[in-house]
Amino acid sequence: MESVDAIVVGAGVVGLAVAARLSQSLNSVLVIDKNPGFGEETSSRNSEVIHAGIYYPPGSLKAATCVSGRHWLYEYCRQRNIPFKPVGKLIVAQNPQQETYLEELKHRAGMNGVQDLVWLSGRQLQRFSPQLRGCAALLSPSTGIIDSHAYMVSLLAEAELNGAVLARRTAFIRAKAEQGGFEVTLDADGEVMALNCRYLINSAGLYCTKVAGRIEGVPAGLIPGLYWCRGHYFSYRGSSPFDRLVYPVPERVGAGLGIHATLDMGGQLKFGPDTQYIASCSEPDYRVSPSLKSRFVESIRSYFPNIDPERLEPAYSGIRPKLQGPGDSFRDFQIQGAAEHGLQGLVNLYGIESPGLTASLAIARYVADELGIGQP
Ligand SMILES: Cc1cc2nc3c(=O)[nH]c(=O)nc-3n(C[C@H](O)[C@H](O)[C@H](O)COP(=O)(O)OP(=O)(O)OC[C@H]3O[C@@H](n4cnc5c(N)ncnc54)[C@H](O)[C@@H]3O)c2cc1C
Repeated sequence: MESVDAIVVGAGVVGLAVAARLSQSLNSVLVIDKNPGFGEETSSRNSEVIHAGIYYPPGSLKAATCVSGRHWLYEYCRQRNIPFKPVGKLIVAQNPQQETYLEELKHRAGMNGVQDLVWLSGRQLQRFSPQLRGCAALLSPSTGIIDSHAYMVSLLAEAELNGAVLARRTAFIRAKAEQGGFEVTLDADGEVMALNCRYLINSAGLYCTKVAGRIEGVPAGLIPGLYWCRGHYFSYRGSSPFDRLVYPVPERVGAGLGIHATLDMGGQLKFGPDTQYIASCSEPDYRVSPSLKSRFVESIRSYFPNIDPERLEPAYSGIRPKLQGPGDSFRDFQIQGAAEHGLQGLVNLYGIESPGLTASLAIARYVADELGIGQP
């Protein structure tokens, strides 16, 4: 049976970052994806925002990997000419309750190491961005946007240059632990085959728990429940009234950050994502119903009163792989290594929702450390 050093299941942005990282130290890294291309699921259906690290509880993995991942991502973009813009973002409060929460968020951000937030009074906000309505706002200068496809192309190129291989249309079927590694059964474009590897990384996004359930020896009790939460986007036709990203103050216990305004690298403004928990399945439904428009308009009007509903058009959607079920409070990323499940060489990544794109390089380092694979 053929063998490789490592198999990474999933060629989304996180799987590719892990492959690029591991390929710096290992000779043979195989990344597999069931789809014809890389990054066809959540990694190409998001806001493409480089988050600062404001919202997450201090000490959480989300906070730590977002803040360090953001630094490394900006550096990576500069070094490799990946299109990005540190456009900054405004979080706009509408009433005294939201203003109080905004103050708490500023404090929390400071504890996470995000020290560059600027407080704006309602009057300052009015001067700064006359289109917006609010009684106070936070300006985050280090929030930015990125061409996430170009980023993934670069990660894959880096991994391939180090000898890694991407196997497309190759699905993980099952794995069992054996002496010094794993025997992994794959469906390679209709052909079932087995491969040995020393390291196995489950970075399967929406299917992470399904993959984990097919790795013999992973205790079922350690596999968390996963909830799919779809977020829809509407694009805003014509030129953008904003040159920064604009967010409402999120709900204290909510599944998302609220319907916000983000720009892509081409300057196209879009609003979203909302939150809609849906049942998991093998063929995700990414359609955006035009009937959602009135809810979008109502929500956007709170901070952008002059929105022209005629310019809003259904765009696309993405699905968050969440550990937080409906009504639950904050849940962190879960990255389980041998200390948890007892299988040397295996890392399972669960619930890598936002800020997974921002955190991708930090998650990759975390996985390498977990496996004891340091820098070359
Ligand atoms: C609406 C939305 C907005 C977001 N906005 C942002 C943002 O602005 N900034 C930010 O930092 N993050 C954001 N995120 C989060 C970010 O997009 C994700 O954290 C990130 O893309 C996750 O990457 P991944 O590689 O873990 O997963 P994925 O991109 O889902 O990749 C997993 C891959 O595994 C493959 N796979 C699954 N099962 C198998 C199998 N059995 N065999 C082989 N392959 C398999 C899939 O085909 C897929 O390609 C957002 C997410 C959503 C949904």
